[in-house]
Amino acid sequence: MAELPTRARAVIVGGGVVGASVAYHLTRLGWGDVLVLEQGRLSSGTTWHAAGLVGPLRASEGGTRLVQYSAQLYAELEAETGLATGYRNVGGVIVARTEDRMVQLRRTAANAAAYDLECELITPERAQELWPVMQVEDLLGAIWLPGDGKVNPSDVTQSLARGARQRGARIVEQVRVTGFTETSTAAGRRITGVRTDLGDVEAEVVVNCAGQWAKALADQVGVTVPLHSAEHFYVVTEAVEGTHPDLPIMRDPDGWTYFKEEVGGLVVGGFEPDAKPWRSPSDLPYPFEFQLLDEDWDHFSVLMDQALLRIPALAETGIRKFYNGPESFTPDNQFVLGEAPGLGGYFVAAGFNSVGIASAGGAG
Ligand SMILES: Cc1cc2nc3c(=O)[nH]c(=O)nc-3n(C[C@H](O)[C@H](O)[C@H](O)COP(=O)(O)OP(=O)(O)OC[C@H]3O[C@@H](n4cnc5c(N)ncnc54)[C@H](O)[C@@H]3O)c2cc1C
Repeated sequence: MAELPTRARAVIVGGGVVGASVAYHLTRLGWGDVLVLEQGRLSSGTTWHAAGLVGPLRASEGGTRLVQYSAQLYAELEAETGLATGYRNVGGVIVARTEDRMVQLRRTAANAAAYDLECELITPERAQELWPVMQVEDLLGAIWLPGDGKVNPSDVTQSLARGARQRGARIVEQVRVTGFTETSTAAGRRITGVRTDLGDVEAEVVVNCAGQWAKALADQVGVTVPLHSAEHFYVVTEAVEGTHPDLPIMRDPDGWTYFKEEVGGLVVGGFEPDAKPWRSPSDLPYPFEFQLLDEDWDHFSVLMDQALLRIPALAETGIRKFYNGPESFTPDNQFVLGEAPGLGGYFVAAGFNSVGIASAGGAG
């Protein structure tokens, strides 16, 4: 285990993809004295089991620019750090089953045009050419997003961490931040460091990148981070004929599902209409390292039924692995990002609502 320093200019709590990105970007800004503290190992919280979709087109221009930046960074990072991120610019197809969905896709295409992002309205037949594994009889149309991509989330984290280390950042694993120290000045409250199970570390700036643990940590200093963990699911299937590593991402929002190729099979995931909250933010287990939650086929069946409708071949395909992992969600579906009002030097980057891999580059 690396030795714990007694001071650093910036202490980052959490070595998930977001903490690694904050460290990477601080060092790029010339902050060499950066310390990342991770209670487990890098990426061992939520990051390691993410599906790795990176879709730049978001609901706002700011969100879109943020993910566009991430995608470009993930594409270029290997040249700088020598560690691949697994980034592949495979493109994405979003299909529509209803007139209402077509209206939404036309609006999406109009937004994309306003953001200067490539997006094409296409017929069901063209969608099937791009994504031959699906049946399209019930579809009214689709859009094609050539800018969509995918990554390996753990590799992104390791690559960002190496980039940060190369410019002087220190990363200490297996150390748990247990609290914070602060002072009162004429200008108000100011953070002065962190307490850990291995001793205190002084810091000018503390960045809480603790994922689902961020709320309970921030509560200790009266900073509000409104997030709650929900169980989030996907399965990886056995081989499916017609898939290949450059198969685009496919999203079928009327069936709440998304699909991507993975080692010859498919990742089948989604956002079921009735989410399943996990434990309270103040009652999260520790240690919790590279762990999954129990399979819940009853809950997942609403997504699997829709997936079978879109891809009939799945009826004959075995399941290689069921992933159920906790992810942080916020009430307004926005990240919690920036310096906390009322506590100088205390920053938060958490609550990524299942787009933390896509957003981490830009958020950092
Ligand atoms: C099933 C599933 C699929 C997903 N698919 C996608 C996808 O396709 N695309 C996408 O963009 N996003 C996806 N996500 C979301 C994405 O995984 C998360 O948004 C992202 O990993 C959050 O990163 P993070 O760094 O904020 O959190 P984490 O990865 O959880 O990192 C926080 C770290 O802080 C550490 N920590 C916590 N408390 C302390 C403490 N007191 N002291 C020291 N360390 C501490 C933890 O150990 C942890 O490693 C998916 C999520 C799930 C669950």
